[in-house]
Formats: sequence, C-alpha cells, structure tokens
Amino acid sequence: MIAIIKKNADRSSVDNLVSWIEKKGLQAHVSQGENELIIGLVGDTTKIDPFLLESMDIVERVQRVSEPFKKANRKFHPADTVVDCGHGVKIGGNHFQVIAGPCSVEGENLIRIARRVKAAGATMLRGGAYKPRTSPYAYQGMGAEGLDLLMEAASELDMPVVTEIMDPRDVQLFVDKGIDVMQIGARNAQNFPLLKEVGKTRTPVLLKRGMSETVDELLMAAEYIMSEGNPNVILCERGIRTFETRTRNTFDLNAVPVLRYLTHLPVVADPSHATGYTRYVVPMALAATAAGAHGLEIEVHDAPDTAWSDGAQALTPDMFDDCMRRIALIREAIEPAAKA
Ligand code: PEP
Ligand code: MN
Repeated sequence: MIAIIKKNADRSSVDNLVSWIEKKGLQAHVSQGENELIIGLVGDTTKIDPFLLESMDIVERVQRVSEPFKKANRKFHPADTVVDCGHGVKIGGNHFQVIAGPCSVEGENLIRIARRVKAAGATMLRGGAYKPRTSPYAYQGMGAEGLDLLMEAASELDMPVVTEIMDPRDVQLFVDKGIDVMQIGARNAQNFPLLKEVGKTRTPVLLKRGMSETVDELLMAAEYIMSEGNPNVILCERGIRTFETRTRNTFDLNAVPVLRYLTHLPVVADPSHATGYTRYVVPMALAATAAGAHGLEIEVHDAPDTAWSDGAQALTPDMFDDCMRRIALIREAIEPAAKA
C-alpha cells in the first residue's frame, strides 16, 4: 500500500504518520520523488483501513499495490484450480461442465427433466429446494423433501447435484444429505456468516455474484469461504443490476475473462438469471462459452408455463438439446484441444 502525501505537508506531520504506521506493526518507507513524497507501507496491510488513511489531512491519496484477496489470487496460485464435484465430474482448467435443471424442485417432474438434461449432455443437475424469493408470499421451495428428490435423481443418473443454501443453520443438513455442490445465490452473496459456515466444510460451493457486487467484492466473498479452509469454490457470473430494463439483469460477460485473469478458481456463467427471458438464454449461453467460462448454469423446465418459479427464462428440453449442440460447436471453435 502506498500513501501519496500532499505537497504542503510539514515534516512533523509526516513523522507522526510514520510512527502511526509503525505502531500498527508495519514498516513505513518514505521516499521523496521529483514531484511528491510517498510513503510505502510494508507488512500486513490488512491492519490498515485505507479509507481512514486517505481521510488524514496530509494524505493526497492511497493506492493498493497488492489485492486483499490472497487465497483466491492467481498471483499466489498460477495454475487453474480444478474442483471435484463428485460422480467423477470436475470443473476448472480444461474441464467444462453444464449445470442444468429447473429453478425449483417441484416434485416428480424433477426426474423427467433430469433425464432429459443428462441425455442432452448436462453433467450436473440443478434445482432449488430452498428458494430466495423477493416476496414472502411467493413459493418458498420444498425444503428438505426437495433435497431428497434431488439426491434420488442424482443417484439414478449418477450426476452431482447443485442446490441453493440460504441459512447457515442448514449446512449440516446439506452435508448429511450428501449434497454435492452448495449454491450461494445472488441475494446471499455477502452473507458473511453463511460464507464462513460453508467454508468450514469441504463441499464445493457455487458462489454467485451479488446483484450489485463488484468483481473484487465477489473475490472477497470467495476469500471468506477459502479462509475458513474450504478451497472448493466455483464462481458464477449471473448478471448485475443496471439501468437497463429490457432484461432481468445485465450479463457482465467482461467478468468472465477478468475473473479468469485475477483468480485460479473455476468461473461459471448463468445466462438464465442474467437475461430473464427464454429467447435470450441460448445466444448468451453461447457468448459465455466463447468468453471462456468453465461452465454454464441453465434453467430447464418441461412445462415452463406451469413452473413454480422462473418459467419465463426456462428452456424446454428440446431447446436445451439444441443449445448443447451449439455449445459444443463453440467449444470446438475456441479450444480444439479442450474437446472432451
Ligand atoms: C437460482 O439459481 O435459481 C437463483 C435464485 O439464482 P440467483 O441467486 O443468481 O438469482
Ligand atoms: Mn431461478
């Protein structure tokens, strides 16, 4: 971290700042440049609040030299992380996976949809048993019974299950049921007690980007999970809230190569929640694949007009078949060596 000092600062104020920094256990290296005086802070800069430092009278501005995310940072872990999701399915590096299924687990249609998505080439099954709904009066999900239906489908089809967890008190239940991947949704993206609790397990976590979360904040949320000891984090870009109203969210596809540059963690993209409309899901699934995502999460329902949630963005199984064929073509075009 570097503090650039105002031109009119007197020597005794600079000395006071230096001793303030040293009292925090850091070294302060003062250097007089041609135009400005700079103090370099060396040591554990997490002990310094950069906003407090910048608010000091003699400080012009503060610049970070290294990012505050350490465990998720590619600088300290150059190779891509590959997360083992169970049932022989790995994601990250050269392993590309498609997670598909209904928004909510609704009952016996789950297995029908699951068979179709598996036949089309999806390798992981999704379905929400605990649903984060904007309205408390909207359908809240089947709960533990929904987890059982997911696990039955997983065992019949030999594929890992991805399902959302909303409450830190449910972590043990998810572990006991054998849930393969716990999803943390956009609304809980910075629920720090939840992030810490899933961090205490080794179960892979699909961490979605919050609606107004910056890339750095997403990485810090991943850091919460990893700092508790769970290295199995998969990031998911699912659109952010902007002034645009023609789509449910604005799909920030920039985030895919940006995250791949900054972190070694696998990066998945969700064109369903990012667009909110069935008609836009396939083109954006293809675009996310071309942008270098390690995987996609796509909502599929066999009767979208009767779906209990998010029917407006669901692909039918036939549409999903076509989508998977075209994803394979994009994959071939961008990375022939990575072809399965
Ligand atoms: C979901 O996956 O069904 C979901 C609620 O996603 P998000 O948290 O991205 O809105
Ligand atoms: Mn949904």
